[in-house]
Amino acid sequence: MIELPTFVDLHTHTRYPDNSNFPSQDIERAALNGGYSEILAMANSEIPIDSVENLKLAREIDQNLNIKVHRVASLTENLEGKKLINFSEFINEGIRIFSDDGKSLVDDQLAHIAFKTIAELDGAVFQHCEKNCHTNPGDIAPPNFSNELITIEEEEETEILERDLTLVEKYKTRYHAQHLSSKKSVELIKKAKDKGLPVTAEVTPHHLMSNNEKIHTSDGEYKMYPPIRAEDDRQALIMGLKTGVIDIIATDHAPHPQETKTLSFKNSARGVVGLESAFAVLYSSNIFTLEELIAFMSTKPKEILHELGYDISENSYCNWLEGEDIFVTRSIYKNSLFENSKVKIQKDITHV
Ligand SMILES: [Zn+2]
Repeated sequence: MIELPTFVDLHTHTRYPDNSNFPSQDIERAALNGGYSEILAMANSEIPIDSVENLKLAREIDQNLNIKVHRVASLTENLEGKKLINFSEFINEGIRIFSDDGKSLVDDQLAHIAFKTIAELDGAVFQHCEKNCHTNPGDIAPPNFSNELITIEEEEETEILERDLTLVEKYKTRYHAQHLSSKKSVELIKKAKDKGLPVTAEVTPHHLMSNNEKIHTSDGEYKMYPPIRAEDDRQALIMGLKTGVIDIIATDHAPHPQETKTLSFKNSARGVVGLESAFAVLYSSNIFTLEELIAFMSTKPKEILHELGYDISENSYCNWLEGEDIFVTRSIYKNSLFENSKVKIQKDITHV
């Protein structure tokens, strides 16, 4: 048995607050089963966090969970990319991170105003980079042999990222690039960091563990944004972490009911769950040392939240059991890419 510090996920989709009774305890269970004690909830819940009223609804539920839920507000109303929300209202509520994650802030004019205003308020923009998200969202990374599926070229991500980094340089906005998927994105973040810009970045376990040689377009489980790209990209993401260009590993935990993931690839919902499997599969892959994983999943995510004024809990620890095993999701939503994978460590859930 080994005792490890608990993890902090900077990219979770809680789904609640909602009108369809999504079980908030399922997020709590997934987090605790994966060794996480704190999560950063994205604003694209069924009831979006684009008003203080909705933030309060979310916080009422958060308070009843045995994990700490930190909150993000959206950049635009209903994450539609058309009208900016009232940022300062959220700053007064202790919210300093703004993101339309699930979608990008694409409109150049709005982006200028948002980056400038948020910099003045000492907040941060967390960006999901996807140029065509509002007009023509794609399905799969190249090579795409299907007539039906839309290719998601690397530029979908890098054009928004490049534009954003220009705004960061201009306004000195604190910026975090979410779920990077490509080699070119890693290079862009490196250049920005070399210039001393206030930038951090994240990558998901699935982008570190898989490449598109393994993608089956018959399996909606692999439908996600950003898509899993080539082996070259995967290697660049790994090196990005090891060299400090990418700061953290975040799960992009996105629960979906089974019936929305077993449709055709084209019609399947985007996203996979990740909280429960993240550490077990990464540790078992031997890509990173234990010290590296603790830094990417616990120490550095805490530093980012702390720097932005979020209230972090005292260090806490939990137990992991070593030994050959098969990973199985125990929470309700099982849209995991790692179901039934061989692992060499499992969370001790006796006390969860
Ligand atoms: Zn996203």
